[in-house]
Amino acid sequence: MTARIIDGNALSAKLRGELAAKAAELTAKGTQPCLAVILVGGDPASAVYVRNKVAGCEKAGIRSLKFEYAQDTAPADVLGKIAELNADPSVHGILVQLPLPKHFDEKAVLEAISVEKDVDGFHAENVGRLSQGQEAFIPCTPNGVMEMLKSIETPLRGAEAVVIGRSNIVGKPMAMLLTAAGATVTVCHSGTRDLNFHTRRADILVAAIGKPKFVTGDMVRPGAVVIDVGINRLPDGKLCGDVDFESAKDVAGAITPVPGGVGPMTITMLLANTVESASRAARKA
Ligand code: NAD
Repeated sequence: MTARIIDGNALSAKLRGELAAKAAELTAKGTQPCLAVILVGGDPASAVYVRNKVAGCEKAGIRSLKFEYAQDTAPADVLGKIAELNADPSVHGILVQLPLPKHFDEKAVLEAISVEKDVDGFHAENVGRLSQGQEAFIPCTPNGVMEMLKSIETPLRGAEAVVIGRSNIVGKPMAMLLTAAGATVTVCHSGTRDLNFHTRRADILVAAIGKPKFVTGDMVRPGAVVIDVGINRLPDGKLCGDVDFESAKDVAGAITPVPGGVGPMTITMLLANTVESASRAARKA
């Protein structure tokens, strides 16, 4: 059996078209959605992510503002900019690209962003709201995964879902969203004793580990939906996921590729959160 490929580029293009239409509608009524992005330091991967986010905004008719700071910038300068953007009614989303340099208190920076503009969904209040099923900004990567599962009509209620990874930005919110959708969720991590035991009984297997080709075909239940969140660079410069695509595609029922899977969906959901924030602001105005 060869798995159905869940094409993140195609799904993103469709959703971004819908978002561009919503952004144009809001703009026509006087509220152009606007995302402010803050980048500190010269990490090349972060610079690429920020460039892609800004380009995504432009294509969707979302205004973007980019603020770049040197590696040795004082945290107070960045916190000052966040305060300024919080108070600016023309800005609907604020994103601080992670990771920050070591001398920053990352948590304090994320908490400084207004909950109403926290389009990454990393603020503790948004995380709390999400866990209680209240209106919240949902972190973009797991939200993108939910859209991908929806696009192929994956049954979620009662499904066995296994998430490998328990990070704040992927694993934990992923588990919350799958739980809310009615799946029975197991979260595996570096301390899990028998990982294969868990992965082999998953109807839905989400890999967010950060280790190239870690999940091999023998770890996958036949017919499972396999979602590969990982983005790893191999020594030859090529990108690969946390799943060994070649062996897993022969066992899975559906699978996401890397690149062209979850990656483009993450930015799409960031744009969606920004447009949503702008429409909430327009409703209040
Ligand atoms: P992280 O390093 O914060 O977390 C990795 C998780 O993997 C940890 O919870 C750890 O317990 C678990 N883990 C490590 N070794 C393990 C093992 N041997 N067995 C089981 N679990 C193990 O990483 P993250 O930020 O969650 O990112 C994970 C991957 O997803 C990375 O490759 C990252 O680049 C990628 N990522 C992609 C997107 C996207 O847009 N597609 C967004 C965010 C992260």
